[in-house]
Amino acid sequence: MKDPITDTNYLPDFKPGTVVLAGAGPGDAGLLTLAAAEALKRADLVIYDALVGDAVMDLIPENAEKIYAGKRGGQPSTKQADIVEKLIEHARAGKRVLRLKGGDPFVFGRGADECLALAEAGIPFRIVPGITAGIAGLTYAGIPATSRETNSAVCFLTGHAATGEVPADIDWSALSEVAPVLVFYMATLHLPEIAERLLRAGRSEDEPVVFISNATTERQKVVESTLGRCAQDFASDPLPPPVLVAIGPVVEYRKQLRWFDL
Ligand code: SAH
Repeated sequence: MKDPITDTNYLPDFKPGTVVLAGAGPGDAGLLTLAAAEALKRADLVIYDALVGDAVMDLIPENAEKIYAGKRGGQPSTKQADIVEKLIEHARAGKRVLRLKGGDPFVFGRGADECLALAEAGIPFRIVPGITAGIAGLTYAGIPATSRETNSAVCFLTGHAATGEVPADIDWSALSEVAPVLVFYMATLHLPEIAERLLRAGRSEDEPVVFISNATTERQKVVESTLGRCAQDFASDPLPPPVLVAIGPVVEYRKQLRWFDL
């Protein structure tokens, strides 16, 4: 019988001079894929984001070089062009480069931009998906993304566009009709506007809302509210980032399914 952790080669092509772009999941190191865990062991260099959890960072071997490429403590964020430049430079120098990103690299994570730049530079790369915060965060709050009783669709969206504003391309009426459950990333800054738009589009003031802060970590904090009250509630008692905001009937399941942050 094979040992799933040690006996299998999950990354046969992590060769020197290549890049692995891997999702680190939302924080709990137990949610890493086996491929991401193996990439951590084999990387010469890890370029990581602010959202990569401490528990995952602890798994990086001491002899691997670490480069921080995120935003923390009000410092200006590392420019995307600088990150891409570093990936290319180190891969060309013959290193096994691991680009580690919070959650899933292709969900609101600019993973596509980085891979496009690698493709243009002719650097071979491989992409390892991760568990996105919108899925794991709900699960660790005891909330299913779908249930047969309540919703046959769920929508993941960002509350913050590249412009810094609420995304301009959302049709709020259509969204309100097709998606009973909405899971917002990066939404706390514009929460008053988001709630207002949903209410104007016909969603109910009493609709359950949940804030999940630092999901899947020991600092996880979950606060329940309603669509009518949520902007006010968050403003008077803000939770530390990162925060996920979910809206819809599935939030009620937490009353019975809460299991992690007891
Ligand atoms: N690629 C990431 C998302 C990056 S966008 C993923 O797939 O999860 C950053 C936003 O993700 C944050 O503003 C927050 O809304 C959400 N997020 C990421 N990690 C989180 C966590 N551990 N707890 C709560 N929200 C999180």
